[in-house]
Amino acid sequence: MFPRLSEDIQNFSFKNTNEERVVSSHFFSWYKGHLVLRMAGLGGRSFSFGILFLSSKLSATAPSTITTLKHEYGHTVQFDLLGPRTYLLHIGRPSMRSGSVPYRDYYNLPWEATADFFGGITERVEPEKLEEARAYLGKVLKNRWRP
Ligand SMILES: [Zn+2]
Repeated sequence: MFPRLSEDIQNFSFKNTNEERVVSSHFFSWYKGHLVLRMAGLGGRSFSFGILFLSSKLSATAPSTITTLKHEYGHTVQFDLLGPRTYLLHIGRPSMRSGSVPYRDYYNLPWEATADFFGGITERVEPEKLEEARAYLGKVLKNRWRP
């Protein structure tokens, strides 16, 4: 009755680390320990907050969709390291505010470069920018708010 939903249920596995399986999902999937929800809204942007919200407008066959998935997964590693409050303040908020930064500079931003690093994307970030981003993450981790 709902073939696309049935497909997602059939392909679902808590052990999934296969990117192809995630990018071909319709509503939900699982990737490296995190829930992935497909969303049509937010101007086609993907984001993550512990859960990966992957735009459903992304092509299931374009290699750039897998890069987006890996990058958003990298943000969930930041999320797990920092906790929701610190992640929101020092990663989520600056990221939302950098929408107008040109593509070539965007992934060199301190809060974006370590998402690429944790996601296993090596070709977008300049080495010195990754060092700056590691220092930024280290500073945020050291000064993070504790309950
Ligand atoms: Zn990002």
